[in-house]
Amino acid sequence: MTSSFPTDSYLFLTGEDAESTEWPATPFPEYTDDILDQFVVHLWAVSNGDLASGLLALSSAGLYTLVVVSARAAGLGPGPWKVDRRIREQLPAIAPALLAELRRRDCRGMGDDPTGPVRRGRLLQLVGAFTSLSQPGGTTRQRRQLSGACPFCAEPASLQISLPKVTWRCFGCDQSGGLHEFAECLLTQVLAGSADPEHLPPRP
Ligand SMILES: [Zn+2]
Repeated sequence: MTSSFPTDSYLFLTGEDAESTEWPATPFPEYTDDILDQFVVHLWAVSNGDLASGLLALSSAGLYTLVVVSARAAGLGPGPWKVDRRIREQLPAIAPALLAELRRRDCRGMGDDPTGPVRRGRLLQLVGAFTSLSQPGGTTRQRRQLSGACPFCAEPASLQISLPKVTWRCFGCDQSGGLHEFAECLLTQVLAGSADPEHLPPRP
């Protein structure tokens, strides 16, 4: 089996300090519509129009960007984002393969330290694509926690992130986990076809 070098690394570098360990979390750029557009063009090119075949060539950061693309294309997250119809049609079909590949890599390439700044930065980047996060207060203890509206149950301020543990939890729908689990919840919604905010389940 040949090892493949990720073809998309250039998209995710923020400069020579891209994998720096800025405390407490590496400030990765937010997923703007432009970044998502650029990524989709790249993915289409490297996969020759067959997205499933392009998965293995993506870096871990690229795979998580594809999760964001899938969820945004399905209507989850802030504002409308339009993706090419040919790509949109393939997204639900590749979701299981995308999940399997994320699980297989177990966040490798996302920073060696599972509770380090790189992994923390990636969690903030992923969650931040779907809800705006704020810190409840200014004390050192409070600065380790961030909260926002939950993108899965739409309960305001029920989603909390613990930076030291690199985990998230929603007190509204009782879902929780780390980076991978957040991606899994997003893709579950994509597969259920219920990611459109208008079709989210009513609040309990
Ligand atoms: Zn929730």
